[in-house]
Amino acid sequence: MPKLTRRSLIASSTAALALDGSKGSGLVLPDRWDCVVVGAGVFGAWTAERLRAAGQRVLLVDAWGAAHARSSSGGESRMTRTAYGADTVYTEMAWHSLPYWQALSDVAGLPIFHRTGVLFFFESEHPYATATMAAHRAMNLSTQLLDARQMAENFPQMDFSGIAFGLYEPKLGALMARRAVQTLVDRFVRGGGSYLKAKIIPPAPAKTLDAIQTAAGDTIRASRFTFACGPWLPKLFPAVVGSRIFPTRQEVFFFAPPAGDDRFGPAQQPGWADFNGGDLYYGFPDLESRGFKIAFDKHGPSIDPDKGDRTPSPEGLADVRAYMARRFPGMAGAQMVEARVCQYENSANGDFLIDRHPTWPNVVLVGAGSGHGFKHGPEVGRYAAQLSLGTLASPEPRFSLASKGTVQDRSVH
Ligand SMILES: Cc1cc2nc3c(=O)[nH]c(=O)nc-3n(C[C@H](O)[C@H](O)[C@H](O)COP(=O)(O)OP(=O)(O)OC[C@H]3O[C@@H](n4cnc5c(N)ncnc54)[C@H](O)[C@@H]3O)c2cc1C
Repeated sequence: MPKLTRRSLIASSTAALALDGSKGSGLVLPDRWDCVVVGAGVFGAWTAERLRAAGQRVLLVDAWGAAHARSSSGGESRMTRTAYGADTVYTEMAWHSLPYWQALSDVAGLPIFHRTGVLFFFESEHPYATATMAAHRAMNLSTQLLDARQMAENFPQMDFSGIAFGLYEPKLGALMARRAVQTLVDRFVRGGGSYLKAKIIPPAPAKTLDAIQTAAGDTIRASRFTFACGPWLPKLFPAVVGSRIFPTRQEVFFFAPPAGDDRFGPAQQPGWADFNGGDLYYGFPDLESRGFKIAFDKHGPSIDPDKGDRTPSPEGLADVRAYMARRFPGMAGAQMVEARVCQYENSANGDFLIDRHPTWPNVVLVGAGSGHGFKHGPEVGRYAAQLSLGTLASPEPRFSLASKGTVQDRSVH
């Protein structure tokens, strides 16, 4: 079995460091790592960074690179909001994650957090909105309840026909997803963490797990492992999560705003979601001039992240175009400038999975971001790192493997 060489690790670490043109690292090469994290998406990267900050010698491994094009974290932008209806566990996680995103944004050179504000709007009174306002008042958040007239005054570029009211979160906004994860991995490596580009093969059944293998045949030994493999987690652990995580195909479109028109830019247009009975349309302003983003949040058909067709469909495009023309009349007929096919990796109801492997207590499984996980990265990483190190004060039952159903029935939005 070939051994991992200093050169292969340094080459990979340098690749992470090269994100901002820097070179070199104080790389430590133990025969046995304290912690290995597999998967450098938003969940794995934050877990690795939290473990490193706790004084562990950490190796972060990814098969294709941090926030690569097919990963769930690899998109342009992700919304951060604290509106979660009665699911206050996520309100709190989003809120407590925000300062970490802001701090990362402050050191990144280019913005990671755009405080555009976020507007959720509703056709009529809705339990989700009522519960959100109650939770936000209890937490003393600055969310505003706007009636249709106030929304029309504040956001005249939008047509609120048929809309009764909205919830506006002035302190929330958009995270630049790919940049965020790559910046975080860069900081992790600069802080003494190690990063390796390698594909890990599914661990074979055994009584204990103290080593994993790369597809190239290298062995990586560690005391603790975290697998944060997004939509690939079912491929690594088919017996444990194969029937509990459902990757679905999701399309995202970007359109060019009219020339010289700033109504759809981040100074005037907030991030937004049309609650639409739970099947949200949502989008972002023209962030960094990359296009006005719009997507339909309803779960698409199931997808294999390695083989699924990533060509956006004409039907999906026609659907968001029709919606955009209705709600954003100034964008009607706008030229499409980019489209992507991503995937959600859903649990049955939308709750995350952050739990120990049922056979191996030194292995933590992290995933099921379920289309809303990105914003929670810092808190997911904290929770997973504490679980791995045995310092977690109060486990959240909703994140347990035992709570994960095998039939899709979405309830978290
Ligand atoms: C279109 C879209 C819109 C979204 N919008 C929002 C939003 O507005 N707000 C929000 O908060 N969330 C949003 N989400 C959800 C959020 O992006 C995801 O929940 C989150 O990115 C999941 O991160 P992850 O780290 O679990 O997975 P990933 O980012 O997929 O990372 C998993 C990593 O594991 C690696 N890996 C897998 N198998 C192996 C292996 N065998 N060996 C080595 N490495 C491996 C992969 O290469 C990958 O890099 C959205 C998702 C999508 C797709």
